[in-house]
Amino acid sequence: MRILVVEDDAGIAEGLRANLRQRGYAVDVCDGVAPAWAALRADAFDAVLLDLGLADGDGATLLRRLRESPEGARPDALLPVLLLTARDQVRDRVSGLDQGADDYLVKPFDVDELDARLRALLRRAAGRSQPLARHGDVELDPAARTVRRAGAPVEVSPREFAILRLLLDARGRVLSRAQIEEHLYDWQSAGAESNTLEGHIHRLRRKLGSSLIQTMRGVGYFIPRE
Ligand code: CA
Repeated sequence: MRILVVEDDAGIAEGLRANLRQRGYAVDVCDGVAPAWAALRADAFDAVLLDLGLADGDGATLLRRLRESPEGARPDALLPVLLLTARDQVRDRVSGLDQGADDYLVKPFDVDELDARLRALLRRAAGRSQPLARHGDVELDPAARTVRRAGAPVEVSPREFAILRLLLDARGRVLSRAQIEEHLYDWQSAGAESNTLEGHIHRLRRKLGSSLIQTMRGVGYFIPRE
């Protein structure tokens, strides 16, 4: 899962980057409306954390642009947006929610709470109401960051966990190698990993059974609907 942090306070932005990366997210940071819009057009993100007062303008401008999704823009209408606001910005929060934001947090916020809200937004975006992602006897818990097979814990690496989470949330859809990698790696980590996607998939199949993750030759990988 890849998060775009749009925040012009470098301290908050770097704190978020470090914290969310530790929790297994890929994280990119932009300090203004223009770079964030460019990032959203260029890469696939799973959620946006949006500060309202930005270096080059108002976060609400980005939100409106995102929700209007003008011709040729890449962002899809379902991309969850969580506002990061100051305590006295009640009216901004209300209008932000009315302009298409999905949730908000008041600064200073607790990262555990932020992560819980992100998980809620991500599971809704995946069309899931229950907290666990399941397929057959395989069960992934995004909060505890654990995987079980037939009730027994299975050790997976953070990268394997991220790939499994992505494929489970996209169940029934084939994801190309490029699509998977785009949700897995941020700008800092892209190209920095020696393990290939094929290697991660191979290990996941060994641990969770060979029929869970299927290959559509020449297209990509998918987990079928049950
Ligand atoms: Ca700000």
